[in-house]
Amino acid sequence: MDAFPFPGLLVDKPVIDEVLDLDTGEILPAWKAVGDDYEKGVQLRMNLKQGNRSGRPVYACPLCVVPVHLVSMMKERRFYFRHETEDGRCPKKTKDKLSGERILAMKYDGARESAAHIRMKEIIASSLRLDPNFSDVEIEPIWKGMEANSRRRPDVRAVWCGSLPVAFEVQLSTTFLRVIAERRAFYLKEGGLLLWVFKSFDMGNARLTQDDIFYNNNRNAFVVSEETLEASLRENRLILDCVWSEPCIDQGQLTWSQHRRPVPFSELKVEQETQRVYFFDADGAKAACIADAGDGAMRADFCRYWLREPQTYEEQAWQSLWERFTERGIDFPRYPGEQDGFRAFMDTLFTAREGRPVGWGHANLVKVAHHVFDKYKGQLWAFKLMLVAHKRGDQIRAEDTSRNWRDKKVKAYLASWAANDETFAPDRRFDGLISFLFPEIAGDLVKTPR
Ligand SMILES: [Zn+2]
Repeated sequence: MDAFPFPGLLVDKPVIDEVLDLDTGEILPAWKAVGDDYEKGVQLRMNLKQGNRSGRPVYACPLCVVPVHLVSMMKERRFYFRHETEDGRCPKKTKDKLSGERILAMKYDGARESAAHIRMKEIIASSLRLDPNFSDVEIEPIWKGMEANSRRRPDVRAVWCGSLPVAFEVQLSTTFLRVIAERRAFYLKEGGLLLWVFKSFDMGNARLTQDDIFYNNNRNAFVVSEETLEASLRENRLILDCVWSEPCIDQGQLTWSQHRRPVPFSELKVEQETQRVYFFDADGAKAACIADAGDGAMRADFCRYWLREPQTYEEQAWQSLWERFTERGIDFPRYPGEQDGFRAFMDTLFTAREGRPVGWGHANLVKVAHHVFDKYKGQLWAFKLMLVAHKRGDQIRAEDTSRNWRDKKVKAYLASWAANDETFAPDRRFDGLISFLFPEIAGDLVKTPR
């Protein structure tokens, strides 16, 4: 609960130290409800009195849900809340020693009497009744547990596809962490599914209760509103507004972005055994992201090795790369010189990527191209894809002053590919490694050249 920040207008040690806002379902500390402006306190006192008299109370005691009014202590210019009717049933008044659990359960039930909560239940039930996949829709039914004397009264209950009972619980207030954990356990044991539904969900200002549901539900949360009811009416099925987080790796850091869209219940993944219901698999995406980041580090380490100056063989560094790539399931030469043409192939592709000869003693890109054409015809397909992917066209044309490359060599290999003859057939021995190192060409590399 919020700390008491100033002497304020509330008396010290008030009997009623919290009030339930009957409109929104929020439970407020009493000092916050009264505020620190005396004039506003007086106006609030009048509002509460009028509301109670006209049968539209504003605040109630969160435990017994009896409306409250504000009593003014004229001399001290301070206030306190009092039950509109005192019939001795409120534990605040009788000073009964109730367990924390019992008080929480009373508050939880009390908050359900708010206008917002009642409207939410209606929206959920109305949407469910439109959906042919749901049956037996009931508002606040008794759900009898298998254990003796165990029962719950979910806000709305319905049966999904004739077999899975689903309890919908509306979450408006911030104080019910333990209720949430305890309810989850109950429905799990009962073979049912519990779905929490919010009136609003603001990730930027995520509150503790919200967080607890969100992170236990694969970073997906559901909101119902007048808008989702309209969408449900249009589509004749239950539509929920889904809020979720998607991960990505940004400069080595795992970061999350927020997303939101209306989703039909039928498109959600339902996991009874973990009590999770979600649209986007955030945990799965996170694992994939981390695996990708691992790949990124391997790729970067290989590139760093290959671009080192001078390019002398470093036994230890290469063997460490070999172990990592082999473990990752990528065919990798034990020694760079072990397989004929491997070193030249890597030099060729890095030359295209860097836009300058890597490993080759040639003066520029087009000279490397001529050499590859003469000596390593099987590398031309991957080389050409790299030139395109890294937009080397202008550079190679500028270097090709004699036009020998574009007028003779390019035409020759294109004609060979078109004729499907074997002269320039791609060397496929390193496709796995090349696809891993140069994901920009991985999609095209495996295709037949044209
Ligand atoms: Zn009370």
